[in-house]
Amino acid sequence: MPELPEVETVVRTLRPRLVGRVITAVRLERPDILDPAGTNLAGHLLGRAVTSVERRGKRIVITLDDENRFYVHLGMTGQLTVQAPGEPLQSHTHLVIDVTEPDREQIQVRFRDPRRFGGVWWLGATGTGDERMGPEPLFIRPAQLGARLARTKRAIKAALLDQTLIAGLGNIYVDESLFRAGIHPLTAANRLTPEQTTRLARAIKFILRKAIRHRGSTLRDYRDAAGEAGGFQRRHRVYDRAGKPCSDCETPIERLVVGGRSTHFCPKCQSRRKKS
Ligand SMILES: [Zn+2]
Repeated sequence: MPELPEVETVVRTLRPRLVGRVITAVRLERPDILDPAGTNLAGHLLGRAVTSVERRGKRIVITLDDENRFYVHLGMTGQLTVQAPGEPLQSHTHLVIDVTEPDREQIQVRFRDPRRFGGVWWLGATGTGDERMGPEPLFIRPAQLGARLARTKRAIKAALLDQTLIAGLGNIYVDESLFRAGIHPLTAANRLTPEQTTRLARAIKFILRKAIRHRGSTLRDYRDAAGEAGGFQRRHRVYDRAGKPCSDCETPIERLVVGGRSTHFCPKCQSRRKKS
């Protein structure tokens, strides 16, 4: 599932191709990807120029020159790519937006999502899409993270996946961050020491920045707006490495299920008894 680094990479590859360009055609193949249902998307988009493409959490927020905004969520298998109009349409392409390219040919932005957990949310001019979304992890302060974690007894793994507590993290980057911080995934969120919270906030930022530099992780479907796969999956230390030796201590990485999500950790480097 695309998480913050993958969505950030899509935004960075989409932005230069989209900002300042005018939307000339909209084809919605599957109206049920649209929220609110029945929104006249073509009516809102036709003739408008795109003024910005930003990321908020795992959302791709697009603003138009009339201040209206909408966002795309990639869900599990979503792809938002820029292609030439002549390229064959892949199956599960639900939305095609034609955009003018003054100096070059016309381009198409295509939203494809085989499993359809993603979609397009119309925000209008007043909706922020921010409601109930936690702070951005790249800018969170350790004290701010600590205050939010202190409110819940849930396992730290489950707490960090909660988008209302902190935005943008998913299974891969929570596992990698907890490994880097040396914190067992089942530790109760409200039992972390201030030192652990500081280490965790730093680990999250380090892992996310590094993953963005490597253009995210491609496990199966993820592609950036140019259709390129990411490279960070080769650098995972624990995620999806159950049974393989820990890169720090050679103890086999273990897997358990927390809140229904598969979780990977080193039982030695992330010992629950470890003093910190
Ligand atoms: Zn280890």
